[in-house]
Amino acid sequence: MPNLTPSPISDQEIAKLKESALFSEKGKTKFSSRILVIGGFLTAEQLREIATFATRYGDGTVHLTTRQGVEIPHISYEKLSLFKRAIEKSSLRSAQSGKCVRAITACPGTYCKFGTIDTQLLAQELFKRFGNRKNLPHKFKIAVSGCKHCCSKPQENDLGVMGVGNFAVFVGGMAGKTPRWGDRLSFDIKEKSKLFNIIDAIIKWYENNGNDKERFGTTIERVGLTNLLEYLKSLQ
Ligand code: SF4
Repeated sequence: MPNLTPSPISDQEIAKLKESALFSEKGKTKFSSRILVIGGFLTAEQLREIATFATRYGDGTVHLTTRQGVEIPHISYEKLSLFKRAIEKSSLRSAQSGKCVRAITACPGTYCKFGTIDTQLLAQELFKRFGNRKNLPHKFKIAVSGCKHCCSKPQENDLGVMGVGNFAVFVGGMAGKTPRWGDRLSFDIKEKSKLFNIIDAIIKWYENNGNDKERFGTTIERVGLTNLLEYLKSLQ
């Protein structure tokens, strides 16, 4: 039976909690917490902490998201303050939500026999450099794959990096209601420093050209891929 108890929590408070990656569930009396995971990688200690928090604050279950994230569901509103304090003291961090660069997904190309780049290191480096980019037109998802098998789906992210010995970059991909396959930039990139500069420029172009709540792929459709490519060329 659905929970028909009226929610005591205001919409403003629910929106505020969402900024801390606490998402209200049906009925608006329980919350799911999204934990930050980069490249799908967690230590055994972090898994133990997640298990402890899921047992102590939720109902003992954990949900894995399609983008390698971990969610602790069914945390009651009354336990949220204690839960937030426990997370702050742990080795875990809450995921980012809203109009920002989201957690970066990556395949295990670092040790997969097909991997041509160190995907896990690159995901960490990308998050360190770009994870603080906020106030974008919309959310911005980045994925890294170690080879052409594309296990982490770089073409379905706002920005995808694929290892081909060098780095191939895809822009403007997205899933959701209006899926779009990312466009591969016409050039591959050899040096990591150049890759970082190009990603920085791509995000700047999106900041300058994207309308509010417009996904990157839609901005590319509206303004034109040629415009983005010319902008990137002008910086070289
Ligand atoms: S994309 Fe390639 S390197 Fe990465 S896990 Fe798949 S097969 Fe391995």
